[in-house]
Amino acid sequence: MSYDPNNIFAKILRGEIPCDKVYEDEFSLAFHDINPQAPVHVLVIPKGDYVSMDDFTSSAPAALIAGYMRAVGHVARELELVTPGYRMLANIGANGGQEVPHLHIHLFGGKKLGPMLSR
Ligand code: AMP
Repeated sequence: MSYDPNNIFAKILRGEIPCDKVYEDEFSLAFHDINPQAPVHVLVIPKGDYVSMDDFTSSAPAALIAGYMRAVGHVARELELVTPGYRMLANIGANGGQEVPHLHIHLFGGKKLGPMLSR
């Protein structure tokens, strides 16, 4: 799947659409999900044209992969999710239920999250 530069997260990265920003650095941007599924629900996206974890892990430069993953950890610590525990999740493609075709890691926390998958 080729990258669609008009996806909503690309527009957020370009500043064309606002977001409720949590963190930003040269590699990544984190913001609150517009439709939260838990008391804390934050999305962390890389600064680069990657549809999903699939092309990110196969084509992104090592510095971006490292910087992005460090940002995910940093945001979880900043949100004080580590001690109580939290969940990170990335949906990929149709079976994964991915809606926005720009890689994003969801961070969920703030309560006991229950089973990993709904049945
Ligand atoms: P996914 O199903 O993994 O692609 O998740 C996409 C997520 O993006 C959903 O949880 C949406 O609520 C969220 N979302 C969509 N548009 C926005 C937006 N403009 N700002 C913040 N979150 C958004």
